[in-house]
Amino acid sequence: MGGNSPCASCKLLRRRCAKDCIFAPYFPSDDPHKFAIVHKIFGASNVSKMLQELPVQQRVDAVSSLVYEANARVRDPVYGCVGAISYLQNQVSQLQMQLAMAQAEIVCIQMQPTQISLDQLVDDKSSILQNHYFNFASSSSSSRSANVNICDSLNRDNIFGYIIS
Ligand SMILES: [Zn+2]
Repeated sequence: MGGNSPCASCKLLRRRCAKDCIFAPYFPSDDPHKFAIVHKIFGASNVSKMLQELPVQQRVDAVSSLVYEANARVRDPVYGCVGAISYLQNQVSQLQMQLAMAQAEIVCIQMQPTQISLDQLVDDKSSILQNHYFNFASSSSSSRSANVNICDSLNRDNIFGYIIS
């Protein structure tokens, strides 16, 4: 950058960019949006204060957090990045539940008494799974083997206490 060109902050605030400008290392003039959004959400003087209170080696991380949070606030003025965090936490717990259910199903399939050879297993895999899922989904308990019924009831009122319809 040219020696005299002001940083993005000083450009926006229409002031002279001093040699020791606190914003200059983090808000280059070629990325004006970065400072504009932080200024809009937090205010330039607050950002300046925050940066001054931090040791120099932590300022880069602080700026990227501020930019991230400011962008999140613009997208979601109520929750900011907390909205994204709780959405992702929700997803994690849903996926953990799915994983636990899949693991329970694996245990059920392993408990089946008939000794199926590996070749048969490969051949019949899809139909076994389809039957299993069909049985899992429907409430009819027809002439299935006792073991499948055990798996069925285990799936219906599973360890989480949810009723699966
Ligand atoms: Zn500056």
